[in-house]
Amino acid sequence: MRLVIIGPPGAGKGTQAQYLVETFGLAHVATGDLFRAAISQGTPLGQEAKKYLDAGQLVPDAVTVSMVRERLREPDCQRGFLLDGFPRTVPQAEALQAMLAENGAALDAVLNIDVPEEKLVARLTGRRVCRRCGANYHLVYNPPRVAGVCDRCGGELYQRSDDTEETVRRRRQVYREQTAPLLAYYRQQGLLREVDGDQSVQEVGRAVLRALGRQ
Ligand code: ADP
Ligand code: ADP
Ligand code: ZN
Repeated sequence: MRLVIIGPPGAGKGTQAQYLVETFGLAHVATGDLFRAAISQGTPLGQEAKKYLDAGQLVPDAVTVSMVRERLREPDCQRGFLLDGFPRTVPQAEALQAMLAENGAALDAVLNIDVPEEKLVARLTGRRVCRRCGANYHLVYNPPRVAGVCDRCGGELYQRSDDTEETVRRRRQVYREQTAPLLAYYRQQGLLREVDGDQSVQEVGRAVLRALGRQ
């Protein structure tokens, strides 16, 4: 299975992705996580990407597409993958389609997790992320069993430096201008599956399975 999960920052893409990849045995390809790993390792890619993440802007398409192309060549992706946070622009979507077509492959579905704008700031400012495995938590809506500690791996939880109100506002604008047009692109291809993300984590999870025809 080859899936894409789209939604504005804070919609719950990463949270649902975590369940989906476990349920279906997919590789989890999250471009934000890949950029953050490159930044913390200080690679040339990380040095290039950092200024964009700090500003809440998109990393240029050429850089992002070549990173994804390399990642999708790795063995774990051959069993199927879930793209989380990619594509985010129409040119990225076109590049993805061409990349898959080279191997005679195509996407099975694109999930759009929709959440009213006014709920997103609270989701993002309360978000905490595991330094070790990348799992997402929320101080109020999805707290870990022990404060500050990841349930899955015992790693330390931290707050992302781009989860501040100002950067969140910028990211949302970038979403509206550059990512929202993707919905029409995928709807036209008959791939788009709409999911109401304004419910509990468990309810959204069930809606995702229904949207995929798996429940
Ligand atoms: P969120 O989960 O809040 O939507 P991500 O972790 O997916 O955020 O992305 C964090 C940042 O990484 C983005 O603000 C952007 O700077 C960069 N980024 C992630 N994915 C892409 C992409 N597909 N194209 C360009 N930049 C990206
Ligand atoms: P995205 O990857 O789309 O930016 P996340 O999965 O990181 O979003 O979720 C953003 C924040 O909202 C996290 O703190 C997460 O724990 C929380 N969250 C995710 N899904 C829900 C939900 N259905 N209800 C309330 N909070 C949620
Ligand atoms: Zn963890």
